[in-house]
Amino acid sequence: MFLKKLVPIIICTFYSFPSFAQLPQDSRRAGGIAVIPLTANTTQVFYEQNPVLITQEQGQRYAVFGIPLSTPLGTVTLTTNANPIQIDIKPYAYAEQRLTVKNQDYVNPNQEQLDRYAREAKEQNDIYSSFNPSTWTTFPNFIRPTAGKFSNSFGRKRFFNGEERAPHSGLDIPAPVGQKVIAPADGIVVQTGNYFFNGNTVLVDHGQGLISMFCHLSKINVEKGQHIRQGEQLGLVGNTGRVTGAHLHWGMSLNNARVDPQLFIK
Ligand SMILES: [Zn+2]
Repeated sequence: MFLKKLVPIIICTFYSFPSFAQLPQDSRRAGGIAVIPLTANTTQVFYEQNPVLITQEQGQRYAVFGIPLSTPLGTVTLTTNANPIQIDIKPYAYAEQRLTVKNQDYVNPNQEQLDRYAREAKEQNDIYSSFNPSTWTTFPNFIRPTAGKFSNSFGRKRFFNGEERAPHSGLDIPAPVGQKVIAPADGIVVQTGNYFFNGNTVLVDHGQGLISMFCHLSKINVEKGQHIRQGEQLGLVGNTGRVTGAHLHWGMSLNNARVDPQLFIK
C-alpha cells in the first residue's frame, strides 16, 4: 500500500545503439571509419574539399568517412552544406613488424625503380581520389575476397631489413598460390596491372570513393572497365611484387583514405 504510493510507474525503454545491418563498423581511429548520422538538412559532406560517401539505412542517412592512417589524435572537422561535423580520433595501438626481404631492390630501389614506383603511385592515387556515383542506395554488404585467416596486419608499422617504411595499408590473407580471389561486392574494375611493390593488382570501384584493391595475384581474370558482381572471380592468389610468401593483400579506400578492411566484414 505504502510502497505503491511512493514508487512511480517506471517505463522502461531499452535504447540500443543501432547495430548496422550493412554499414561498416564505426571505429574512430587513424585507419578507421566514422559512421555519422546526418540531420535532414545535411546533404553534402566534405573532407578537405573532397566529397564523403553518403548512404542510408532504415530511414536514417549517414556519412561514411574514412579516417586516414596519418591522422593525429584530436578532432577532425568535416565541412557540409549545413553545420560542420567534428569527429574525435581515439588512440589505437598498431603492432610493429620487422621483415627481412632478400631482394634488396624492394628495400632500397634504384632510380629507375623509384621512377616506376612514382608513376604507379600517381596512377593509383588518381583512382583513390576519384568519386563516381554509386549504383546502390543501401551500403553494399561485403564478403571475404578469399578463404583464409585474416592476419591482424592492417596499420602495422613496418621495418624492412631494419628500415622503417610506410605503415601497412591493407589486410594480408595468407593463402596458397592459385586460390580463387572474388569480388567482395559489386563494382567496376577501374585498373589492372603489374606494379613494382604490389605485383599483379586489380582495383574495383564500388562507388562514391569506395575502392578495393587486390595485390600480389598470380593471375588476373578481369579487364579494366568491366562490371563485376559480388562473388565473381577476379584473379588468383600469388606472390608477385614485394612479398615474403604467397598471400592476398586486400586494401580498402574511402575518400582516398586507406582503412581497415575488417570493418566491412560482419
Ligand atoms: Zn600486404
